[in-house]
Amino acid sequence: MSIPFSGCVLGKDVPACPDCGRAYLHHKSVVAYSRDTEDGPGSRTYVTTGRVESCRVGAKAIDGRRDVCDIVFECEDCEGNKVLHILQHKGHTLLSWEV
Ligand SMILES: [Zn+2]
Repeated sequence: MSIPFSGCVLGKDVPACPDCGRAYLHHKSVVAYSRDTEDGPGSRTYVTTGRVESCRVGAKAIDGRRDVCDIVFECEDCEGNKVLHILQHKGHTLLSWEV
């Protein structure tokens, strides 16, 4: 399920958990999709503690028309991964939570 980015708490720079609204998120991993050209195929790079993996992906495996970055968080106060989805599309950078 995709929900709009709900903003930050504790000032401007601490993201709120999309499920419980608290401020105790820890990032676990990052997945970056980088297109060779707009709407084209590209590369997927996964980074987590002690591990980096990269592979080629087709154009349909990447959202939007340009690059994507997914940051996977876990919350100290509730269950399940929360993914901050950062998408470049038609000149805009779009933020949403995938939960
Ligand atoms: Zn939470």
